[in-house]
Amino acid sequence: MYDVVVVGARCAGAATARLLAGMGHDVLMVDKTRLPSDTLSTHGLIRGGVVQLSRWGLLDRVLDSGAPAVTQVRFDIEGESKVRRIKQRAGVDMLVAPRRHVLDGLLADAAVAAGAELRTGVTATGLLRSDAGRVAGIVGRSANGDRVELPARVVVGADGRGSRMAGYFGAETLEQHTSPCAVFYTYVTGLRSDTYEFHIAPDAFAGVFPTHDGAACVWLIRPTPLLEPIRTAGSGRGAAFVQQLELLVPDLGHRVRAGRITARLRGTADLPNYLRRSHGPGWALVGDAGYHRDPITGHGITDAFRDAELLATAIDRCLDDPTAERTAMTSYQQTRDAMAREVFDLTCALTAFPPPNRFVELQLQLSDALEREADALASFPGLTANLAA
Ligand SMILES: Cc1cc2nc3c(=O)[nH]c(=O)nc-3n(C[C@H](O)[C@H](O)[C@H](O)COP(=O)(O)OP(=O)(O)OC[C@H]3O[C@@H](n4cnc5c(N)ncnc54)[C@H](O)[C@@H]3O)c2cc1C
Repeated sequence: MYDVVVVGARCAGAATARLLAGMGHDVLMVDKTRLPSDTLSTHGLIRGGVVQLSRWGLLDRVLDSGAPAVTQVRFDIEGESKVRRIKQRAGVDMLVAPRRHVLDGLLADAAVAAGAELRTGVTATGLLRSDAGRVAGIVGRSANGDRVELPARVVVGADGRGSRMAGYFGAETLEQHTSPCAVFYTYVTGLRSDTYEFHIAPDAFAGVFPTHDGAACVWLIRPTPLLEPIRTAGSGRGAAFVQQLELLVPDLGHRVRAGRITARLRGTADLPNYLRRSHGPGWALVGDAGYHRDPITGHGITDAFRDAELLATAIDRCLDDPTAERTAMTSYQQTRDAMAREVFDLTCALTAFPPPNRFVELQLQLSDALEREADALASFPGLTANLAA
């Protein structure tokens, strides 16, 4: 019997497991994929995500992995360029964009170092329940096809956007809006390594996140139908991506053409924006499994880090005092929903691609919201865990 079984061991699951293990609980993480591995995601952290890494003693490890410290942000709006230095605020003066196989691997390693167990190649396929109907563990399938039963006092679904765990728990969706836009991205060498770039043009939002090995993640978001020519270009998708960049955001497009593309183009479309009920007797959801917004605001990893800490704190309370479960878990969800609200609404507004002037206004509101969020994260109560371990 584990105290907690966490299904999904990437940024939400591994962070939650690490915090809980650091508080002295017996934690098992399972993931159906082999880790560390890449996943479909760009990976620009905004200030709040960097604050969490710093508070958890992991920012140095991210920098040691070769992810460059980003010290400037550049906004290009229809040919006009503005560069801002990242000021010291909420305890950090940089941004970082580590590749997901590095970041997720580092988080899982930190969880194991804190005492959590990690089993990869295990797929959760259902739940164990007590006679009273309380969730009491998971049923799963190991890599060799064996059925496994893993009993736990609390089961956490950290299994991402397509969360099966949400379905097993019966977690209702409280609010949902679709995002009528799509994103494509690839990796390019030869761009600056100290600057996040954001380029705004009518019906187009493109950007650059510098990452490992002198490469940068270059992305383009547009209303879905406008990216159809790329999606349907077959083996010419990379070339079609560069062509659209050159047409829409010429400065970036020309620099991408002059650089070297080092990876195949990846992308996705029409992602949902939703809030799910994220707790019940013996279970909880964290990360994309419980709350998701389109990547246009680059906020998913920061959401995962915020909610990992809120949830770990709530579960710690429940494990110590089972009578506190309802209050602690209700407070987890209420705090998450309150902290997520402003960015959630701005995300929905941005994905509608209003005219550039309005898009810029929304970006300014977003930047203000992100700074306030970073302050709030920096003032979270200290955790009892020995996070530097
Ligand atoms: C195109 C794109 C670009 C993005 N760009 C950014 C960005 O720039 N910045 C940012 O902050 N966020 C970004 N995001 C969002 C970010 O990727 C997600 O918010 C983040 O990955 C959520 O982490 P998670 O741990 O909740 O879920 P995931 O990263 O999806 O991890 C879920 C894990 O659960 C495992 N799993 C699933 N089902 C089971 C099962 N039944 N049994 C066992 N294991 C299971 C999976 O194998 C997976 O490893 C982007 C997303 C997309 C799609």
